[in-house]
This record gives sequence, C-alpha cells and structure tokens, in this order.
Amino acid sequence: MMPRLHQHAWMDADIAAFRDAVRRYVDAEIAPHVADWRRQGHVPREVWRGFGAMGFLLPELPEPWGGAGAPLAYQMVVTDELARAEVSGTVAVHTIAAHYILDYGTPEQQARWLPRLASGELLAGIAMTEPGAGSDLKAVRTRARRDGDDYVVDGSKVFITNGHSANLLVLVVRTGGEGSKGVSLLVAETEGLPGFQARILEKIGMHASDTCELFFDNMRVPAANLLGGVEGQGFAQLMSQLPYERTLLAVGAAAAIDLAVALTLDHVKQRQAFGGTLWDLQTVRFTLAEVATQAHVVRSFVNDCIQRLHDGTLDDSAAFMAKWWTTEQQCQVTDRCLQLFGGYGYMAETPIARLFADARVQKIYGGANEIMKDLIARTL
Ligand SMILES: Cc1cc2nc3c(=O)[nH]c(=O)nc-3n(C[C@H](O)[C@H](O)[C@H](O)COP(=O)(O)OP(=O)(O)OC[C@H]3O[C@@H](n4cnc5c(N)ncnc54)[C@H](O)[C@@H]3O)c2cc1C
Repeated sequence: MMPRLHQHAWMDADIAAFRDAVRRYVDAEIAPHVADWRRQGHVPREVWRGFGAMGFLLPELPEPWGGAGAPLAYQMVVTDELARAEVSGTVAVHTIAAHYILDYGTPEQQARWLPRLASGELLAGIAMTEPGAGSDLKAVRTRARRDGDDYVVDGSKVFITNGHSANLLVLVVRTGGEGSKGVSLLVAETEGLPGFQARILEKIGMHASDTCELFFDNMRVPAANLLGGVEGQGFAQLMSQLPYERTLLAVGAAAAIDLAVALTLDHVKQRQAFGGTLWDLQTVRFTLAEVATQAHVVRSFVNDCIQRLHDGTLDDSAAFMAKWWTTEQQCQVTDRCLQLFGGYGYMAETPIARLFADARVQKIYGGANEIMKDLIARTL
C-alpha cells in the first residue's frame, strides 16, 4: 500500500476533501481525453477554463485575485492529481508563472492578470531557456529595447512548456548590460501579437505538453508589462521561487513512481509464466519490494517538503535535494518496472512505457540535476 499524500500531517480534512474533488474532476473531465491530447501534442487551452471554474488552477491566490487564499499544499494536491493522469507539466508551469506576478507584480499588474490566470482565461508559460543559455541562464541574449511606451523584443527561446497553448508568457529578457543585473522579466500577452511565433518541438516523451521554440522579431510589448516596473530585477525574482518550483517537480516524481509501482504490481500478479505468475518468482517480488520502498521514501521526503513549505521553513537546499533525488528515483523505478512488462513495456501504448519516457526529462529541466548538486554542495 503506497503512502498517499493524505497520510501526512499536513493533509487535514479540508485538503483531503479538496483532493477528492480534484480527483473526481480529473477522472471525469481530463483523464478520458489525455490520449487524444498526446496525439495532438498539446492540451487545448479551453480545458483549463473548466479547471479554473472549479477553483483548481490557483487555489493559493488571495480571494481578490480569484483564488481561495489556500495554503500552497492545495497546489501540491493539484499537481499530484494531474501527474496521476499524466498531464502534470502544463498547470505546474502556469502556477510558477502566476507566482511571479503574485510576488513581484505591481498592484495594477496583479489586478490585470491574476484573476484571469485563476479562471483559466489566461494560460501562462515561463520562457527562460535560449539556444545559447540553459543552465547558464545569466547568458540570455533575448533583448528588450525601450522605445517610447513599449519594449521591442528580439531574440528566441527554446524548450518552452506551453509555448503554443499559452496566451501569457513571462519572458526572461536582457534590458541592460551583461550578466545577471541586466536581466528583467517582461510579461507578454501573446495571442495575435505581431512579431511572435511558436513552433512545437517533437519530444521523446511528455507528449501531451507543448514544448516550443519561440521567436521574437520586433515584438512590441507595453513598457507597463515590465514585472514590478523596475529593470534589472529579473534574476533575483527568478531565484526567489526555487523551493516552491522544485517541490512541484518532486511531487510529480512521487506521483509517477506510485503509479509505476501500482501498475507493475498489478501486471506481475496476472502475467502467467512457468506454470504460475511472475509474482511467484522471488526476484520479481524482491524488485517490487525495492521499488515500493523507493516509492515510500520518496513520498515521505516529498511530504516533509510540503509540510515545510506550508510552515515557511523549506530552505533552498532541501528543495534542490528533493528535485534531484526524487527525479533520479523516478527514472530508476520506471526503468525497473518497465523491465517487468517485457516486450509490452516497450510498446508506446503501454502506460509504463509512457511513464518511463516522461520521467527522463525530470532530470534535465527545472535546473539539471548536476546544477542541483552543485548548489547543494555550496551549502555544505
Ligand atoms: C520538455 C522540456 C520542457 C522545458 N520547459 C521549459 C520551460 O517551460 N521554460 C524554460 O525556460 N525552459 C524549459 N526547459 C529547458 C530546461 O530548463 C533546460 O533544458 C535545462 O535548464 C538545461 O539547459 P540546456 O538544455 O541548455 O542544457 P545545458 O545547459 O547545455 O546543459 C547540458 C548538460 O550539461 C550538464 N551541466 C550543465 N551545467 C553544468 C554544471 N554547472 N555542472 C555540471 N554539469 C553541468 C548537465 O548534465 C546538463 O544536463 C524545458 C526543457 C525540456 C526538455
């Protein structure tokens, strides 16, 4: 029996009821369509309107901005339930972008965007990575040049989640000189915006999420969209959200691991071989015992991070540890589970094959795992 989120102290009766409501909605309205969305390479933006109308998109926003003023743990529950349905990336990125506006937007910017982000009218993405600047984000070259009441943006981004389906993007741009002090965050409403183009990239996994290359050619964005209204704050703004962002990734890892173990247990107990089932073989039972243990330890660690996030005591270092370690376990567990499905495990239509392929990117994005270790080592 997997330790589910509700077994931890932070999961009180209200959060448990919220979780049940999200699960019912996801099972009825989201899960049945995931195969189609995977084929078309993105989740239609309108889907998130329904999710927003239920109060599930950004429950942690204050009420005036369309939320319920709920603790961040509510968002973790949403992430967990969407990851169970294998559509975790879109909303996680949406909430990360919304949190920048919540924390750094001017009151006018908050009023303009947050209620529409909570309702799902706006779907957000965050565009940091460039062809020449990934782990070394300080090297971004996309330029935003002030021209009257606008910024004129030129450059490109790559691997941007929701790049096609989003209609609001938080862009990491260079407004000043070299290095981190020249970086700002600029919010662009991209629907029909002249000079903006997105191209969906083909990936080896995560097929329901649109990951894009973005091009900006003389793209005009009102100067009033500079997040916080002061140039050069971008890097500091990006760094302050890290514990929350890393925890979201770890929650996704825990959900995927739970799912992989449950699917595999089910499979080996049914699969006939050598006059019995695979489950009758001790090596198979040992493998299941090991991955179930990994699932348990991951879940305990993630629950601890959520509790500390809830209490305001989650430090960067613990969140970096959770990011690299849980995603490493996710890759190990999905690989070992896939093995027990034999040839069926290698077929694209098998859920374990998807879990295996989807897992791989978790070690790369959100800060590559090597970067996490480097940051942890600096604190030791
Ligand atoms: C599916 C997907 C979705 C993504 N979504 C987004 C998004 O929404 N927004 C966004 O801005 N970006 C997004 N990314 C980009 C992602 O964050 C970057 O790919 C990641 O930060 C790594 O940057 P890079 O690809 O340029 O690799 P590089 O920076 O070139 O690094 C390549 C590898 O080198 C190693 N390495 C790099 N630096 C170090 C170091 N200092 N020490 C030790 N080893 C190191 C690591 O193994 C790393 O994986 C996404 C990527 C993918 C694949």
